[in-house]
Amino acid sequence: MTFDSLTASQHPAYRAGSNLADVAVAASTCALCKLAGGRTQVVFGVGRADADLMFVGEGPGEQEDLKGEPFVGRAGQLLTQLIEGIGMTRADVYIANVVKCRPRGNRDPQPDEIESCAPWLDRQLELIHPLVVVTLGNFATKLLLQTKEGITKLRGREVPFARAGLDAVLVPTYHPAAVLRSGGRALAEARADFVHVKRVLARVA
Ligand code: URA
Repeated sequence: MTFDSLTASQHPAYRAGSNLADVAVAASTCALCKLAGGRTQVVFGVGRADADLMFVGEGPGEQEDLKGEPFVGRAGQLLTQLIEGIGMTRADVYIANVVKCRPRGNRDPQPDEIESCAPWLDRQLELIHPLVVVTLGNFATKLLLQTKEGITKLRGREVPFARAGLDAVLVPTYHPAAVLRSGGRALAEARADFVHVKRVLARVA
């Protein structure tokens, strides 16, 4: 079955049961878009199933595709440092991506791929029910805020976030890979955004 022929409620994400582990099992065999043909495995997400803080990146890279875990490569090491910089660990949070399968050659995910994968992310948001969602980079920010505005303008803001049954706060920040590419100032801004996230979390928790 292709995504085009599905109504929203027929998407396998909505037929997968009501705990995160069941949804992950259902996602592991997803073949709704062309990314399925190029993956080693589905990279569903990692972390606390009841985390207050959830990160959403773009899509798995080569390392993540091989390991089956988001953000384990160089960008992932920076994400881990930023999380630890606010006194938390990866085990305290949940980390997921907009698309769950690696786009070959690290190309950008395409609109049809993002659309067909979004219900998996929505089930994650619904079941984890975080208080604060941090979008990492343009793809996650544009999808979850339904905006065309770029990350440079939006980063560090605090936006009310109602989606998938959540009444949460969303804070966009740079993608760690972009921080690695840009260096100095972007790193300082990302660190400041994480400190802001910690304050928001303390306020809403
Ligand atoms: N970049 C992402 O957006 N996600 C990952 O899991 C790894 C790198």
